[in-house]
Amino acid sequence: MAHVQHWIEGGLTAGASTKTAPVFNPATGEQTAELALATPADVDAAVASARAAADSWSHTSLAARTKVLFAFRELLAAHTDELAALVTSEHGKVLSDAAGEVARGLENVEYACGVANLMKGEFSEQASTGVDVYSIRQPVGVIAGITPFNFPLMVPLWMCSNAIACGNAFILKPSEKDPSVSLLLADLWRQAGLPDGVFTVLQGDKVAVDGLLQHPQVDAISFVGSTPIAQYIYETGTKAGKRVQALGGAKNHMMVLPDADLDVAADAAVSAAYGAAGERCMAISVIVAVGAVADPLIDAIKERLPSLQIGPGDKEGSEMGPLITAAHRDKVIDYIDRGEKEGAKVVVDGRTGRSEDGFFLGCTLLDDVSPENVAYTDEIFGPVLAIVRVDTFDQGLDLINSHKFANGTAIFTRDGGAVRSFQRDVQVGMIGVNVPIPVPVGYYSFGGWKASLFGDTHMYGPEGINFCTRRKVVTSRWPDPGSSKIDLGFPTNSDH
Ligand code: NAD
Repeated sequence: MAHVQHWIEGGLTAGASTKTAPVFNPATGEQTAELALATPADVDAAVASARAAADSWSHTSLAARTKVLFAFRELLAAHTDELAALVTSEHGKVLSDAAGEVARGLENVEYACGVANLMKGEFSEQASTGVDVYSIRQPVGVIAGITPFNFPLMVPLWMCSNAIACGNAFILKPSEKDPSVSLLLADLWRQAGLPDGVFTVLQGDKVAVDGLLQHPQVDAISFVGSTPIAQYIYETGTKAGKRVQALGGAKNHMMVLPDADLDVAADAAVSAAYGAAGERCMAISVIVAVGAVADPLIDAIKERLPSLQIGPGDKEGSEMGPLITAAHRDKVIDYIDRGEKEGAKVVVDGRTGRSEDGFFLGCTLLDDVSPENVAYTDEIFGPVLAIVRVDTFDQGLDLINSHKFANGTAIFTRDGGAVRSFQRDVQVGMIGVNVPIPVPVGYYSFGGWKASLFGDTHMYGPEGINFCTRRKVVTSRWPDPGSSKIDLGFPTNSDH
């Protein structure tokens, strides 16, 4: 059986770990590897290596850093198949979806390749007579990234591309459920010429996370995961004096207006609700059906589900793979049971697709879901789509704005005026107009509102550069000898 280790100081190490966790292939239910779980001593070793590396990497020229990023970009692209296969083997998503994950992660690396431009400061000549004012950006130091199981490659790339480009050292604490791809990532950074210690992988659970949160030599924490843990990370990390961005869970609504093209809306709903078995933070989990569109839309969705191919991610033709663990599959089933008990009508029952070999579940469609129903209030993170019927656009908007999560949302219509009102008034971070999964491209930033994000900075793109840098403003004068005098007044520009 494979042993998944840490990557510290440019190579694999078992560290001081005595505790391990099993890693499974979700498509077969078999254990495929044993994961080393970091001890506090491993945290110290990882941070010491990263700290030393940050000190020298931050002095490396922009030109040298850019060269490493371009090489890394080429290596990632060249290893797409291998990376995707590793993701599929431990996450379960189908290979084409895993390759899509690599492609979206590449966007973040490509953005970071422009670091020479992104790190530019500002310069104001002659702000006052003989005085120039300018700003510079410097790296933060050591940034730790704690990532979820559902994008074991892309989310680490969201974080590490900008962090490393900006001159920081980065420590990745991947999910325990699909940790192997992080080590291939580390090796590709090494092959790209990144010095030892600038990219570290610390495998582990809460012990590793708490060690990073409390370590005085860790300057900033990037987190993506569920809301309760995001809140814990934000509160604990900021209390320990760190810069923290913590992205949490979601319940993404897709509003469909009566004038929408039914086929377009139904195709989008099925793709966005059941792709990756619903284990995407931008998955559509609620359809807000406005007025008379509900019945034909439900029929159109129902009609599409029987032909979806559910199977192992590495099998040709599979469109939806298994869930991540047996426990998670059973939790999703429990949500369907409770949703039904609380009054939802089960139009398509995915529970019948539960398998003993592997963690498979079928697609579920729930109708007449009330806003109080647990299948509406909670993030289920599985292949379950809830329909909430409303009479008007305004009722739909109020519904969306009343939910505690506010990651992404979408509207399907041909009415430009309705779209304009929606995008102005909806209190959600990312919006799709006839686009069901509006994950922003790498040169914008990703982040929700309310319980979907703790902290001020969104992930990657321009906000990612802000998170990974600290700014200084310099006010400068080069006086001629003999031109100075003592002046105890507060410096102003009024008389210059
Ligand atoms: P999770 O919160 O269980 O785990 C995320 C990370 O936190 C993992 O590395 C895990 O080891 C660590 N962790 C778990 N419990 C901890 C604890 N008690 N103390 C300290 N660390 C702990 O999330 P998950 O199940 O891996 O991922 C799914 C969740 O992530 C969903 O809620 C999904 O919506 C969310 N997600 C959000 C985004 C986003 O951008 N907003 C993106 C992807 C996933």
